[in-house]
Amino acid sequence: MAVLYERVALIGLGLIASSMAHAIRRAGLAGEIVGYARSAETRATALEIGICDRVTETAAEAVEDADLVVLCIPVGGMGDVAREIGPHLKPGATLTDVGSVKQAVIDAVAPFVPEGVDFIPGHPLAGTEHSGPRSGFAELFRNRWWILVPLPGGSDAALERLEALCRGMGANVETMDAEHHDLVLAVTSHTPHLIAYTMVGVADDLGRVTDSEVINFSAAGFRDFTRIAASDPTMWRDVFLTNREATLEILGRFTEELFALQRAIRMGDGQMLFDYFTRTRAIRRGIIEAGQDTAAPDFGRTKAGD
Ligand code: NAP
Repeated sequence: MAVLYERVALIGLGLIASSMAHAIRRAGLAGEIVGYARSAETRATALEIGICDRVTETAAEAVEDADLVVLCIPVGGMGDVAREIGPHLKPGATLTDVGSVKQAVIDAVAPFVPEGVDFIPGHPLAGTEHSGPRSGFAELFRNRWWILVPLPGGSDAALERLEALCRGMGANVETMDAEHHDLVLAVTSHTPHLIAYTMVGVADDLGRVTDSEVINFSAAGFRDFTRIAASDPTMWRDVFLTNREATLEILGRFTEELFALQRAIRMGDGQMLFDYFTRTRAIRRGIIEAGQDTAAPDFGRTKAGD
């Protein structure tokens, strides 16, 4: 594939940035990848495993002369980094991010984007519960959606080039506005994470009473909750602080549904439970048919603990 950007700067070198670096390299989409991470340890690791051609000591240095700059840090840190790099962005460059929330990122970053730089917020709907530069892999984005949130007045050519990069990394691209993105993600990702955190918290409380039974007898349902609840605490704290309204809206609906199910159980209303579970099963089928998960039993795990 042809080089789309001569120089790409990745700000933050964790799971998403390192996966991007692998995927960009594999498809030959960039001439050079420059990286910056906050800690010397992460910078050294990035060099050691070779995800970047160069690593810089500051974010400002990393973006110097870069054609594409990608903010790959937790949402809560993006405003400060944008303030630092803003004056160093090259005219004609594209700035994007991979944050899990969009309106808050736009509010924090847009004021620092100079004239002549295209800011196109983005969010790859792909991830794992692992963090850091060693956790990335080129296949992460394969057949996943990469949502781009073009802002009014942005350049079509810049958007097309960024879309081509996402596709080159194996993703499918969709564009939408920030408010819609934040509501959709509150339903599909943010609230489910909160529920997983809660369920694991409840089990942890019980675990103190029943010793290690919660761990020893961990069945598939609970094990999947623990995988989700092992996600990075900083990232998820920031998600809830910055997508507050949409998450609270969906949590309100969730609580109402939970009460309805609770009532059905109390009243012995098996028909209600059966109809409800039939409806939800169809959603799972839809996800598999859309190629967004595997139909293999136990999520295609080959052995316990995978
Ligand atoms: P990660 O593996 O934890 O890596 C985060 C990186 O950001 C690290 O290199 C870290 O540097 C750096 N960093 C953290 N706070 C910073 C700050 N205040 N200023 C400068 N650098 C900072 O995170 P990730 O999973 O790649 O997530 C990055 C972004 O992608 C987040 O905005 C997240 O919402 C979004 N996202 C994540 C997923 C997912 O499933 N993980 C999926 C889609 C989108 P040090 O290592 O030096 O501390």
